[in-house]
Amino acid sequence: MAESIGTTGLILNEPLLWEKGKKGRCGFSLPRRDVEPSPLDPVFTGEGPDLPDLSEVDVVRHYTRLSQWNFGVDTGMYPLGSCTMKYSPKTNERQAGLLGFTGAHPLLPDTLSQGALRIMFELEQYLSEITGMDATTLQPAAGAQGELTGMLLIYACHKSRGERRSKIIVPDTAHGTNPASAALCGYRPIAVESNEKGILSAEAVSEVMDEDTAGIMITNPNTLGLFEENILKIAEIVHSKGGLVYCDGANMNAVMGVAQMGKIGVDLMQLNLHKTFSTPHGGGGPGSGPVCVKKHLKSFLPVPRVVENEGRYTLVENCPDSIGKLQAFYGNFGVMLKAYSYIRTMGPKNLKRASQLAVLNANYIKEMLKDTLHLPFDRPCMHECVFSDKYQKADHVTTLDMAKRLMDYGFHPPTIYFPLVVQGAIMMEPTETESKEDIDRYIEAFKAIVNEAKEDPELLRQAPHKCKVRRLDETAAARKPCLAG
Ligand SMILES: *Cc1c(COP(=O)(O)O)cnc(C)c1O
Repeated sequence: MAESIGTTGLILNEPLLWEKGKKGRCGFSLPRRDVEPSPLDPVFTGEGPDLPDLSEVDVVRHYTRLSQWNFGVDTGMYPLGSCTMKYSPKTNERQAGLLGFTGAHPLLPDTLSQGALRIMFELEQYLSEITGMDATTLQPAAGAQGELTGMLLIYACHKSRGERRSKIIVPDTAHGTNPASAALCGYRPIAVESNEKGILSAEAVSEVMDEDTAGIMITNPNTLGLFEENILKIAEIVHSKGGLVYCDGANMNAVMGVAQMGKIGVDLMQLNLHKTFSTPHGGGGPGSGPVCVKKHLKSFLPVPRVVENEGRYTLVENCPDSIGKLQAFYGNFGVMLKAYSYIRTMGPKNLKRASQLAVLNANYIKEMLKDTLHLPFDRPCMHECVFSDKYQKADHVTTLDMAKRLMDYGFHPPTIYFPLVVQGAIMMEPTETESKEDIDRYIEAFKAIVNEAKEDPELLRQAPHKCKVRRLDETAAARKPCLAG
């Protein structure tokens, strides 16, 4: 194997701090006391906590080593599709960390929170503009909670018309959270199959859409990385039967400043600020899944709403049609700050450019690898492209084997076995920030791996070879995690 930017021989083992500690070692000393000693309250005496004695070097090395076992976008390319693990510029963290923000408290009165409220108000406006919608709520804490909010809004809208509908149309390419959110709101998700081009056809939607269907949840671009080109026609069909069009906007990274969902028939949608707008993503949060709506749904949005009146900002609870409250206070404010800072530092032109580059990079990978890996939908993609392991079947090498081997070459594996409509799927999303050199290195690594699959399939089946741990029992790793290291 050619020299790679993967791991070398220096993978350090690290024991627990308790195993490392030696009685009498000390990391720092307390200042000399200047008062008389006095005995502790008897309640606090007795056995102290079992803490190891460690020197400063012991502690610093321990945590530095642990931090190096991790892999993130700061370490190298992280081409996980359907997740947009994009680079979040550090300046946005800095802005969110400013003292005025970190010292703010959600229980402060409006009069003392004018700056924070203004940022929320303006961010709502920016997100409405980017999506082509009329109003936005920042409350939901994740994409999935945004979807649930959307479903509650759809329910409230039908209720206000004196209607009660029982079903929601969900395409077979949808993220698992879509049918789950519909079901959580009491709707029955009705699956529709995408066509041979990987998108929804108007005919397929027309077949299932009826007056008992509350609407459709459509992801655009969809989870195959393809733009739902029939969206206008689909929206027309759904609207003609009194339904609403919900767009899962988690893939907005492909179309910022390019496609305005509000102008192509969408009534409401969620954005994932932790995918598209500069909050690091993964590790369980915090996230933010704002929901943007057209005018006719505005009165149903969650409370409180930020309202501006002659330059003063207030939080208003008195909205009789509102679906109520979804989240403690107003949502995850720190994430909103990073999105605000990102949007302001980029400006409209650069947001559009980011999307164009994300799409260009994905299409470059698609073109460069399509003779190496099977490409089920050979047409221009958006921000991600999906391959499969079909060509490797003969060598009995699977998607999982190739993903594991990629780690030996120093790359985080792409998303595998999703979306479910492609057997043995390998889904790659390079994002806009990867340079041509890094993308080329990644492409070369994949080509080398596919060669290895022919020449030495066993090497792949045993991979990874150069990582801290080898092939794990994935079920046991998830069900019985060993957190001791
Ligand atoms: C990530 C994602 C979601 C879910 O978002 P969370 O913030 O993880 O809840 C929903 N739909 C799509 C298409 C996604 O990529």
